[in-house]
Amino acid sequence: MSAQIITIRNPATLQTIAELPVANPAEVAAAVARARIAQMIWQGTSFAERSRLLYRLRDLLLDEQEKLADVLTSETGKPRAEVYGNELFYLCDAIGVWAKKGSGFLRAEKIRPHFLLLKAKKVVTIYSPRGVVGIISPWNFPLTLTLGEALPALMAGNAVIIKPSELTPLSAIFGAELAFQAGFPENLLQIVVGYGETGEALIDHADMIAFTGSVETGKRVMRRAAERLIPVSLELGGKDAMIVLKDADLERAAGACVWGALMNAGQVCTSIERVYVEAPVYQQFVDKVVEKVRAMRQGPSDDEVDIGSMTSEEQLSKVEAQVAEAVARGAKALVGGRRNPRYQGYYYEPTVLIDVDPSMSVMKEETFGPIIPILKVKDADEAVRFANDSRYGLSGAIFSRSPTEAWRLAERTQSGSLCINDSLVNFIIPDAPMGGTKDSGFGYRHGAEGIRKFCQQKTVVIDRSSRKEEFPWFPASAKKTRQIRHLLVLLCRSGWSHKLRALKGLIKG
Ligand code: NAD
Repeated sequence: MSAQIITIRNPATLQTIAELPVANPAEVAAAVARARIAQMIWQGTSFAERSRLLYRLRDLLLDEQEKLADVLTSETGKPRAEVYGNELFYLCDAIGVWAKKGSGFLRAEKIRPHFLLLKAKKVVTIYSPRGVVGIISPWNFPLTLTLGEALPALMAGNAVIIKPSELTPLSAIFGAELAFQAGFPENLLQIVVGYGETGEALIDHADMIAFTGSVETGKRVMRRAAERLIPVSLELGGKDAMIVLKDADLERAAGACVWGALMNAGQVCTSIERVYVEAPVYQQFVDKVVEKVRAMRQGPSDDEVDIGSMTSEEQLSKVEAQVAEAVARGAKALVGGRRNPRYQGYYYEPTVLIDVDPSMSVMKEETFGPIIPILKVKDADEAVRFANDSRYGLSGAIFSRSPTEAWRLAERTQSGSLCINDSLVNFIIPDAPMGGTKDSGFGYRHGAEGIRKFCQQKTVVIDRSSRKEEFPWFPASAKKTRQIRHLLVLLCRSGWSHKLRALKGLIKG
C-alpha cells in the first residue's frame, strides 16, 4: 500500500514546497521502540555532556540561520525579521538557559523529616527521566514549539518524538537534522509527520505527551492519554485581554498593543485579542493605535515588512467570519477589515475594530489573527470583570503608571501569566514558569517546572540507624499497641497535661 502524502504549501505564494509521506501507526510504534533504546544510553550521560551538545546545536543553528529562515518563512508566511527576532533568538537563548540551569533544576533535594522518630532516616528526592516524550505541536511557531519544547526534555535525559503540525513540519525536520549533526545520538530525537492519527499513535506509545494546540484537540489528547494513564501537559488557546487605565503611558500602551496583537499576524497563543480602555483616555488610545497600524507594511517575507501572510486558509476564514459577524452587529473597522487584495496568498490586513460588544465572537472566542477589537469601559473594575468573563486564562496585560493599582488588578485577573506595562514578553523568559488556567490548559513550560514535568520525581529513603529492627515491625503485642497510643498523644495532642500523662504511661509501659 502506498503511503499517504502531505503536501506543504507556502501560504504567501500558495506554491507547493514539499511532499512528505505520513507516518502510519506502525511506523510511529517503531520510532518509539528505537527511541527507547537510544534513551537507555542517553540516560547514562552526564549533564555536562548534554549541555555540551546543546551548545553545539546552538552554534549550528547560528551557522545555518539563513537556511532556517528560508524554511520557516516558506512554510509559515511570516516575515524574515520575525524568524531571527523571535524563533531563532528565543531558541538560542533558551538553549543557554537549559544548558546552564537544567542540572540545577533537577538536582537531588535532601528533605528533613519533621517527625522526631524518623530523624535517623535520610530522605532524598530525585528527578528521573520519564523515557520517551511525545511532543505534539501547532503551526504558529514551528521551531520554537518543536525543537524548543524538546530541549528541556532532552536535558532531563529523555528521548523525544515530535509530531509537528501537518502544515509546518519542515522546520522541525531541519532542527532534528541539526541536532543529529551536533552529536545527539541517532534515534534520540525523531520527527513523525502526519495528521491527527499520527498524533494519536504517539499518545498510544509514548511515556508522556507535551501538547500545544487548540482546546478541542487538547481535550481529545487528554482523553486518549487517560486510557494509558500517561501524564500530559496541555498548552492551549487564549483570548488575552489588555487593560488600559486612564493614568497609563498611552504611547507605550498603544505600541505594546499593536506589537502584542499583530506580531506573527496575531497567530500567537498569548496575543492581545481584546482591549479594554478606561473612558477618559479611550479616544486618544484608539487614535494612537490606528495611526500605528496604518503605518504597518504588509507583504512577502523577504521584504522589509512588519506583517506577513497568515499560515492557513482555514485560519484566515475564521478571522473573516468573526470580523463579518462583528461588523454586521454594529462594529466598525477603522483600519483593515478585509483580505489584502494585493496578494494571492493568505494575507489579511491588520485591523482595528471599535464599537464591539462583549457578546461578539471576536471578543469571546480565540481569533488567532491580526485583529484589535477595542472596548470603552467605565473603570478598572469593569475592565477586570470583562477580562475574567472568558473561558480562557492564558496571559494578559495591564497598563498603568500606578504600580499599586496595576498590582491590585494583576492579582485579580484569572490568567496563568500577565505583563504590567508590556506585552508578549513573558514567553521569552525561559527562566520563569509559563502556563495557562481554565480552558487554556495546565502544566508549565519554562522554569523549574518546565523541565521537571519531563521527569518522574522519586523519593528515596535511606536508614542510617543500623538497628536490627524497627518499633512498629511484627510481632504485634498489647504492650506495643499501648505504647503507640501514648506516643500518638505525646506527639500530636495539644495541651501539656495530656502530653505529661502520655509520657508517664509510656514510661510505665
Ligand atoms: P490543533 O489543535 O488543530 O493541532 C495541534 C496539533 O495536534 C497538530 O500537530 C495536529 O496534527 C495534532 N492533532 C490533531 N488532532 C489530534 C488528535 N486527535 N490526537 C493527537 N494530535 C492531534 O491546533 P493548531 O491549529 O495547530 O494550533 C493553533 C492552536 O494552538 C491555537 O488555539 C493556539 O492558541 C494554540 N497554541 C497554544 C500555545 C500555548 O503555549 N498555550 C502556543 C501556541 C499555540
